[in-house]
Amino acid sequence: MDERTNGHIEVISGGMFSGKSEELVRRLRRALIARQRVQIFKPHTDSRHAPERLVTRDNRALDACSVANASELRQNLHWGVQTVGVDEAQFFDQALVDLAMELADAGVRVIVAGLDQDFSRRPFGPMPALLAVAEFVDKMHAVCVRCGAPAHYSQRIAGGGEQVQVGDLDAYEARCRRCFRTYAPGGEGASAVVLPAEATQVGEETG
Ligand SMILES: [Zn+2]
Repeated sequence: MDERTNGHIEVISGGMFSGKSEELVRRLRRALIARQRVQIFKPHTDSRHAPERLVTRDNRALDACSVANASELRQNLHWGVQTVGVDEAQFFDQALVDLAMELADAGVRVIVAGLDQDFSRRPFGPMPALLAVAEFVDKMHAVCVRCGAPAHYSQRIAGGGEQVQVGDLDAYEARCRRCFRTYAPGGEGASAVVLPAEATQVGEETG
C-alpha cells in the first residue's frame, strides 16, 4: 500500500471532563504498541499537569513535548514520525491547521484533541477549522452535573470573563444545553437568549 494513504487527521473534541485526553492517550498507546514512531505535543498554557508520560507494556516511554505554538511544534518534529498527537489544541494558533494538513498529506497520522467551544460556547481557536478538515471526528460528552444528561458544554462557575482560564473542578463543570447558563463574573447570569413560546414547537418536524 502506498504509505501516503495512511496520512489523515482525527479530531477528538467536546467539553471539559469528557475524556478527550484519555481517548488521545489510548490511541497513542495503541500506536506505540504497534511500534509506530509517535510524538505528542501540548501547549505551554496547559500548566495544570506535569508533562504526560506514556509508558506502554513493553516499557517504551513517551513524553509530551510542551511548545509555544505551531511553529515550535514543527521545529520539534522528529524525522520519520508516523503518528503525531496534539492535546489541548484549542490553545494553539491557526497555523496548526496548515501544519496538520501538511503532515497528513505527507503520510502522518495526526490526532488532535481539544475543546470545540469556550465557556461562552464560541468555537475555540483552531478547533473549528480542524473539525472541518479532519477525516474523522469524535465528539465526546461529559455527564451534566445538574441533570445527568450528556453534557456538551464547559460551564464556568468561578473566575473572570477571559476566554483562557486554565482550571479544573474549581472553575468549570460539565453542563448540557438545558442546564447551561451564560456566565457573568461574580455570579451566574440568566440564559442570554429567551425564546418566544412558539419557538419551542420548532423541534416537532414531520417525516
Ligand atoms: Zn443538564
